[in-house]
Amino acid sequence: MAIKRVWIDKACVSCGMSEVNCPEVFKLKVGEGAKVIEGVDYRSLQKKIKDAAESCPVQAIMLDED
Ligand code: SF4
Repeated sequence: MAIKRVWIDKACVSCGMSEVNCPEVFKLKVGEGAKVIEGVDYRSLQKKIKDAAESCPVQAIMLDED
């Protein structure tokens, strides 16, 4: 299963863990919550993205896989 799309649900509580776990993809914006950095090639980051999603305390990291 390859990750095709990543986005953050409004449930995000701005804890910052996603940026700690995968700074290549996630960036915490003060007052806005975590954002997904645009234009990133996910192919070499599959495990880090999935680990970040599993570590999110409110399951706010959403993934589309094919
Ligand atoms: S780990 Fe989850 S709750 Fe925390 S900043 Fe990232 S998306 Fe938001």
